[in-house]
Amino acid sequence: MPLTRNIWLGTFYKLPYHLRVAAASLHGYRLRYRRYGPETERLVAECLERDTWTSGRWKNWTEDRTAELLHRAATRVPYYREQWGQRRRRGDSSSWERLENWPAIDRVAIRRNPHAFLADDCDPRRMTAEVTSGTMGSPTQLWYSSQTLTAWYALFEARCRRWNGLSRGDAWGLLAGQAVADPLARRPPYWVWNRGLRQLYLSCYHATPDNAGHYMEALRQHDVQYLMAYPSSLYSIAQGILRHGFKPPRLKVILTQSEQLFDFQRRAFEEAFECPVRDSYGMSEICAAAAECGHGTMHLWPDAGVVEEVDGELVSTGLINGGMPLIRYRTGDRGKVAESGGACACGRSLPTLTAIEGRISDTIHAPDGRKLSPNLIEGIFDAQLPVEEAQIVQYSRDAITVRVVPTAAFNARTSRAIESEIVRRVGRVAVTIEHVERIPRGPNGKMRAVVSQLPAGSS
Ligand SMILES: [Zn+2]
Repeated sequence: MPLTRNIWLGTFYKLPYHLRVAAASLHGYRLRYRRYGPETERLVAECLERDTWTSGRWKNWTEDRTAELLHRAATRVPYYREQWGQRRRRGDSSSWERLENWPAIDRVAIRRNPHAFLADDCDPRRMTAEVTSGTMGSPTQLWYSSQTLTAWYALFEARCRRWNGLSRGDAWGLLAGQAVADPLARRPPYWVWNRGLRQLYLSCYHATPDNAGHYMEALRQHDVQYLMAYPSSLYSIAQGILRHGFKPPRLKVILTQSEQLFDFQRRAFEEAFECPVRDSYGMSEICAAAAECGHGTMHLWPDAGVVEEVDGELVSTGLINGGMPLIRYRTGDRGKVAESGGACACGRSLPTLTAIEGRISDTIHAPDGRKLSPNLIEGIFDAQLPVEEAQIVQYSRDAITVRVVPTAAFNARTSRAIESEIVRRVGRVAVTIEHVERIPRGPNGKMRAVVSQLPAGSS
């Protein structure tokens, strides 16, 4: 974290709460100005209209957009222009207007020289800059034009809010990774109200079962209508609600984001909050997105990006960010894309993501060569073991450590049950159970269900 940010946060935490609200709100008004404009409602209406297009109509539309974007990238963006220049000099005459002629890129290429990905008619000083920390902790620099941001937030408004009968005028809670409260604070508020976005930003770092009552009180006080949350943090809150018998405020929906949502978490949210839970998929690079409808289908947003599945990895071409085009960008996420066959019961014909199974880097390697997704963690929770949080760490092919935050009922039998769950799914591996107070979080407060520490090249 840069020093200036540390100093700023140190000052922020010392302010009385009403001044923290003023600072957060000022920031919120600035974001609102950047994200929404007079064209927003028109863009939202157009997006909702596209939801029911036939697959043929989508195909034509995305092909036109893609060809236009690829032409722009090959002629106006230094990184790609250079690449195509070299190919042409080698006598390669393939068309750059066809996606299959482009090689995949990953975030290392962007990190090496982010400016090379900016179109030459864009001035980064007039764009919104964002640095993503990424799961592996290496920052990536991104830029968006104001037009890009407006287009993106119109899609978000349509498919995350309007699909669920909500609008950006409704008060909402966001349980996520910004450090809005002193990490050392032992008393609430663990949140800050942002008037500009009508958003109660709740710290994920303080989301423990014991603090659940405080969080519920804050939601009630701010008349929060719906919640967006990291599943791992909301799971801690849900456990507190169920354990202490709290009555949470009536929410219209819970939207989960940023981490893989496991079934055991979804069940806990439905039980604790008695409201629908909808998952979503997206990324700061805004080149792929999907949201779950009321019928449990994860619908892709073809107008955000063209998503391909290459060796189990989602590879995406963003259609919105013409200022910094990412072509066949390796997302690092494991998933499956389904043909847009018949329409979903919700009436939308959008293609679907049939599975999202965490980060490619979080794969467990079984001794017999199988590659297992983080879904393995479900075994521990499906068995209703007395565990608050768990994480699987693989140090070698034949040894797995399970970090657990045990509840009072945890005993030697629990350890044996976890061990047998792991062995049943992975094979003959040595299982070590490690007790911790809290599973360590990565950058942005996100939790990984599986951490692979296998030496490079052993996969
Ligand atoms: Zn649907």
